[in-house]
Amino acid sequence: MLLILHPDIDKQSEDYLATLKHLNALSGVTVKEHIVQGQQQQLTEIYLIGETKSLDTADMEALPAVERVIRISEEYRVLGRHHDDQRVSGFDFQGLRFDQESLHVFAGLCAVDTPEHVEIMLKTLAAHGQRCTRMGAYKPRTNPYAFQGHGKGCLPYVFELAGKYNMAAIAMEVTHESHIEEIDTCLEKCGRPTSVILQIGTRNTQNFELLKAIGRQQRYPALLKRGFGITLNESLNAAEYLASEGNAQVIFCLRGMKSEYGAPHRNMVDFSHIPVVKRLTRMPVCIDPSHSVGTRDHSPDKVMDIAHATAQGIVAGANMVLVDFHPAPTQALVDGPQALLLDELPRYLDDIALCRETYEKRRALWQ
Ligand code: PEP
Ligand code: MN
Repeated sequence: MLLILHPDIDKQSEDYLATLKHLNALSGVTVKEHIVQGQQQQLTEIYLIGETKSLDTADMEALPAVERVIRISEEYRVLGRHHDDQRVSGFDFQGLRFDQESLHVFAGLCAVDTPEHVEIMLKTLAAHGQRCTRMGAYKPRTNPYAFQGHGKGCLPYVFELAGKYNMAAIAMEVTHESHIEEIDTCLEKCGRPTSVILQIGTRNTQNFELLKAIGRQQRYPALLKRGFGITLNESLNAAEYLASEGNAQVIFCLRGMKSEYGAPHRNMVDFSHIPVVKRLTRMPVCIDPSHSVGTRDHSPDKVMDIAHATAQGIVAGANMVLVDFHPAPTQALVDGPQALLLDELPRYLDDIALCRETYEKRRALWQ
């Protein structure tokens, strides 16, 4: 059961204290508090976990601090919809809104290699009005001898250049809890010219200790990639781990499923799950066409498979695109063969705009 308290409730107020006293005395019920910081107000949500079936909704609604009561199912307690469309979806970050209506493109380097490539990439993005990017500093690799990313060594120039080109947000994968601290320390030292969305890669979707660590902090939102060999339900539960620890600023990313049936693509594209994730949860949904498709191949129509997959996601209502670009793919240290070229960026963005317009028209058609 979920109790939503009156907005901006004072934790010292009699109403709050009396309500909490009552709840804490319920037997077999654990009380878990969750704060939602909105632009205008702070909402306190109280999750009652355990023996809640016998609790009467009207009794709970009568408690002095309570505004609204929602019966929630066991699944995705914080991030789920629970037939309650009034609760807001998404969050504000760095002056940008991330929810199930918004659309942001995070184009950039799969892996940071040189400051020159980072600068060319960011300069090109800025020239095309982009405020977001992806930059990999910590790379999880299948082969232990493969390049593992420059790690914290590249953070100072990545953040400084991001500031120089007015990037509001960088999607950056972390593979260990200590990386959060490294990123935070470096951003602080640089004067916070930009900020980071902590990406959790498909190999770490069920690294529960990493999820808990990212969930314990609220400064940086999380971009959780779907696990490539687990069910959708298992991946959504992984997202709920972040929220259950206190960080509900979570974007869910579809990136294809590992399957021989997807060949010759790197993975089996799974963007038809966009509406499913939107229906089951309140998370914005991202697509990663680069890691789904994994090649620059195109059909006789000259449209690359990556662009086709992107289009499929956008016309289905995707809220974010994570996509690999590189100024010189043959020199890229990771995933060069799937990187788009910088002179393909304007066309790629135009294609997204076309598809977004189509999504909006399709949506109007079905009202
Ligand atoms: C990436 O985005 O660079 C990446 C490694 O993706 P994934 O975790 O989906 O393989
Ligand atoms: Mn990659």
